Amino acid sequence: MQTHILGYPRIGSKRELKKACEQYWSGKIVLEELLNTGRNICNQNWAIQKEAGIDLIPCNDFSYYDHVLDMSLIVGAIPARYHEVILKKNGSELDLYFAMARGYQKEGLDITAMEMTKWFDTNYHYIVPEFYKNQQFKLTSNKIFNEFAGAKHAGINAKPVIIGPVSYLLLGKEKEPGFDKLDLAQHLLPVYIEILTKLQEQDAEWIQFDEPFLALDLTEKAKETYQWVYQEIRKQFPELKLIIATYFDGLKDNLSLATVLPVDVLHVDLVRNPEQLEEILHSVPDNLSLSLGIVDGRNIWKNDYKNSLNLIKKAIENLGTERIFIAPSCSLLHSPCDLSFETHLNPEIKNWLAFAKQKVQEVVTLKELATGTKDENILIDSEENRKAITGRKTSSLIHNETVKQRVNAITEQDGQRKNSFRIRKEEQQKVLQLPLFPTTTIGSFPQTTEVRSWRASFKKGELTAKQYDILLKEETRRTIQWQEEIGIDVLVHGEFERNDMVEYFGEQLKGFVFTKNGWVQSYGSRCVKPPIIFGDVFRPDPMTVYWSQYAQTQTKKWVKGMLTGPVTILQWSFVRDDQPRSETCKQIALAIRDEVVDLEKAGIRIIQIDEPAIREGLPLRKNDWQNYLKWAVESFRISASGVEDATQIHTHMCYSEFNDIIENIADMDADVITIECSRSQMELLNAFADFKYPNEIGPGVYDIHSPRVPSKGEMIELLRKAQNVIPASQLWVNPDCGLKTRHWEETEKALIAMVAAAKEASAEC
Ligand code: GLN
Ligand code: ZN
Repeated sequence: MQTHILGYPRIGSKRELKKACEQYWSGKIVLEELLNTGRNICNQNWAIQKEAGIDLIPCNDFSYYDHVLDMSLIVGAIPARYHEVILKKNGSELDLYFAMARGYQKEGLDITAMEMTKWFDTNYHYIVPEFYKNQQFKLTSNKIFNEFAGAKHAGINAKPVIIGPVSYLLLGKEKEPGFDKLDLAQHLLPVYIEILTKLQEQDAEWIQFDEPFLALDLTEKAKETYQWVYQEIRKQFPELKLIIATYFDGLKDNLSLATVLPVDVLHVDLVRNPEQLEEILHSVPDNLSLSLGIVDGRNIWKNDYKNSLNLIKKAIENLGTERIFIAPSCSLLHSPCDLSFETHLNPEIKNWLAFAKQKVQEVVTLKELATGTKDENILIDSEENRKAITGRKTSSLIHNETVKQRVNAITEQDGQRKNSFRIRKEEQQKVLQLPLFPTTTIGSFPQTTEVRSWRASFKKGELTAKQYDILLKEETRRTIQWQEEIGIDVLVHGEFERNDMVEYFGEQLKGFVFTKNGWVQSYGSRCVKPPIIFGDVFRPDPMTVYWSQYAQTQTKKWVKGMLTGPVTILQWSFVRDDQPRSETCKQIALAIRDEVVDLEKAGIRIIQIDEPAIREGLPLRKNDWQNYLKWAVESFRISASGVEDATQIHTHMCYSEFNDIIENIADMDADVITIECSRSQMELLNAFADFKYPNEIGPGVYDIHSPRVPSKGEMIELLRKAQNVIPASQLWVNPDCGLKTRHWEETEKALIAMVAAAKEASAEC
């Protein structure tokens, strides 16, 4: 039996890489210093795994920005627009690499970055490879060989990790018509062969190919490509030991394909899909070993050894110990680095958690336990584990009967507004008296350095709660007054009191904790620190009423209450694994519902429940979509349905395609939905138009992600486009998303122009 790790976090346990990259980009450190930081992180990671006793330690899992971009550079998939950077920069590979990741605006060049998108169903974003017809590939970077040599220097014969050729192609985007990216396998394979040849020359024994697409729905062509590619590789390298790693879902209908691929080890995700083990054990051929992905790489909970050992034993019974590998379910890239830095956590809760470093130890301990160790420390560890797991099952910190009962008592009625939208619309119009093309914004106004510094000072104790409150109120009052002055119809308070749209609510809800250092890479140097939902969620006190009510007293216009929806709170947190996600989501939904009702009681007649993460929560397999959408939509409806017909519920979603889920979006039954739309030139509206979406829509008329101030003319043009597909009586006018990251200067100009555009468009009707 062997242990291995699919990949280790590369940001450094104190986010050293983030800091070094950002300093390098701003010219504060030189290349050699950045490279040093990178090497140090690799060495630290290797040392952690070596000390723990891992058998196969990965290399090339490190990356300065993104491992998919690394692959693009290795195989020379460098879009033509970067060739000038290569010429200008005589030599530095890393500058070319960062140019591809971030764009290049220097020395008279202005080259756009490559596109970025989500890595499967995680919150990690990768740089999308760009593919062209007849594209050729060429070994271009030595990163993988250097890292292998670095590990060797540290006394480790590492297992290089490479994105498998088929997944690499499937991750990319065809940038011109007339070809299928999978056809490029013919051209790509020789470069993989070259890479493997070199690694073999360096004495590599093991190679890990990440092929996550094997756990997704595959076309026939993809299946054929899988067979062809791996047969070719096997032919060339009969000696190399090859691992194919799948994760994030079960193999399901691809099982027979996965087990015929001529490799030595198949890694499967038994956290996401433990049920697949039985079937896999009956289908693995004699010459294939199985890697059990048993320690959750996507979440922060301690492994339940008893549970895991049951699975491992079952595998041993069928295959024998020799053919079993123990591993985390996926790369630990998605886990925070090290729990031991969390000195402020409640010790009982901390005892339920494991971050990457601890997970490495768990993998080793599981092997020891499975092979019948007598090691005293391991046995103590196992006993502690048992106590922690049973303690968590019954802890009064987690379990709240009232919350559980309330969720159990949810009826269909709870997700139902009193009357249909048609009737609500009339009731709302009687109260709200809004004009045609009502104007509003998505919620946040600029979080200036000043606003941030108040919050920092308040947290440090340099400002009293009273002083902080006065400053925020003044900022809120000014923002309200300004919106009123420029003639916006539905005002917002500006969200100055909020650090983050999930954290702000998590901090006030029961059942959440926050780490000090639980950072996870989101993209490049960007890291996030997701809250941990450990227990039954409820709302001890109103969360936003104070600010909304204050804002409403400052104006005669309507102020829109601003909440984050249950699905988004769930999606952007580490979620408890001792009950279905749907259950946790409904608990949050009830908490938000209470807030909605309290806002209404406080005189707030328009309430927005943001759900930007609904789409990203979609399962990887289409078969599972409807089940997810059912509880996700239901959760939203529960949160929104406690109010009178005359109270108007808004929701907001950021850039997402709605075509395939428009029915479910309509089923949310928000009175108004605002969507990010301007970058697609209103094309996203077509899904709503084709569906004859009955409720109101605010398609964003300008892109808030850029400092550029849009002209009145272009916004009128977009509004005309919108009216071509959606009746004017259904349309709102608003920016794409919140204005938090913008400066006041451009915000003022943009919103003044937006209001003018709405007026003019309305006069045209
Ligand atoms: N109300 C939030 C804001 O304006 C919405 C943010 C989002 O959609 N991501 O900041
Ligand atoms: Zn948004």
